[in-house]
Amino acid sequence: MSYIDEVMERVIVKNPAEPEFHQAVKEVLESLRVVVAANEENFRRDALLERLVEPERQFKFRVPWVDDSGQVQVNTGYRVQFNSAIGPYKGGLRLHPSVNLGIIKFLGFEQIFKNSLTGLPIGGGKGGADFDPKGKSDREVMAFCQSFMTELSRYIGADTDVPAGDIGTGAREIGYMFGQYKRLKNVYEGVLTGKGLTYGGSLARTEATGYGLLYLTKEMLSINGIEIAGKTIAVSGSGNVATYAIQKAQEMGAKVVTASDSTGWVYDSEGIDLLALKEIKEVKRARLSEYVNLRPNAVYHTGKGVWSVKVDIALPCATQNELLLEDAKALVANGCIAVGEGANMPTSLDATEYFLAHGVLFAPGKAANAGGVAVSALEMSQNSGRLNWSFEEVDGKLKEIMVAITHNMAAAAEKYGFAGNYVIGANIAGFEKIATTMTIQGVV
Ligand code: NDP
Repeated sequence: MSYIDEVMERVIVKNPAEPEFHQAVKEVLESLRVVVAANEENFRRDALLERLVEPERQFKFRVPWVDDSGQVQVNTGYRVQFNSAIGPYKGGLRLHPSVNLGIIKFLGFEQIFKNSLTGLPIGGGKGGADFDPKGKSDREVMAFCQSFMTELSRYIGADTDVPAGDIGTGAREIGYMFGQYKRLKNVYEGVLTGKGLTYGGSLARTEATGYGLLYLTKEMLSINGIEIAGKTIAVSGSGNVATYAIQKAQEMGAKVVTASDSTGWVYDSEGIDLLALKEIKEVKRARLSEYVNLRPNAVYHTGKGVWSVKVDIALPCATQNELLLEDAKALVANGCIAVGEGANMPTSLDATEYFLAHGVLFAPGKAANAGGVAVSALEMSQNSGRLNWSFEEVDGKLKEIMVAITHNMAAAAEKYGFAGNYVIGANIAGFEKIATTMTIQGVV
């Protein structure tokens, strides 16, 4: 049995009932076969892959809080500090009822390679809780965030582990968490990113993941001689990533015709009205079904369906495993030429393979959505230097980083004989730096 297959088998036995974690490890290890084969003796001796798939540290903790009726609620919090070879652990906090240890581990594992790809000095981690901010009052969200941070604060710090936002953790939640951290530790430091502009946040952080997705998608198309202007795009989701992906796609001259949330999706043949979307999602925090009240020509459907629309480009920006094999078949049948993953692992493995087999340009999330963490790292730099860079400066650096990632993943794929396969390219480019650094730092 090959070294990779042995490690994969062990991951499944050692981490039962964590299918998302198995999926993420399999996706990465499969792409590394050629690199691992070339270094197998050394990697085996150093148990490099065994160390890579084992988090350095993980925490699971109780988060009790009092709701508005006086009832005590109890959630479960997590922080997985996966790999600190190249910098302090860095990765978001997901607040969603579906959160469990396996999901946090899958996200933390992916984060290692994504962060490495940015070229910035940040390790990989992830955290969150099975708390649902939806339908809670601001006071309830504050009570939860304070309790969550009371425990989390023991494990994090500006030079140790710097969490950020993710699904369910936006500016409001980061604000409450930062306030509590400062109160507990009596130190004003950049312990979280995605902060508000009045207390150390970076301009362009809010837009970074969506914008970055479009910078990379445009560059990937351009390498292949295709213009993004004039293309029709399907976006899923209507949160942070989706909103700014739609905005940048429109600025680039493309037309985005869909958006979705967990209850349904809209098709707007004239192009999604961004102001209407923001009003519903950012101001009212309401359901997407309200979109048709503001745009009567659009159509709202309940359930899934974004990928059934005829488009040139698909940008999944909601959540993991939201684009399955049948969706990939429908997209290809409708002439889709490119996919850029705004979300983390939104495409199932068989759907990814189907796209690659049918010549669809496919930018995997760890490259395509790295803009968020890249600007988070720029926020850390600004905090350390007590500086504030302009929007243009940060956006310019973001664009440079995304263009560099595109070329790095393309070059790594080509170097190992997989030209055009950006899944393999991104994994190899991210892995090489981590593997080299872990080897240099010895058995830790
Ligand atoms: P938000 O919470 O802002 O938005 C998430 C969107 O996805 C919402 O429209 C939400 O709908 C929908 N959604 C969430 N869960 C599900 C589900 N189980 N089924 C269907 N729809 C769902 O999150 P973000 O935009 O920040 O994150 C989206 C994705 O991008 C995630 O995979 C995240 O890990 C990834 N990502 C985010 C980064 C960032 O900077 N924000 C950076 C890199 C990756 P509803 O409102 O109904 O819940």
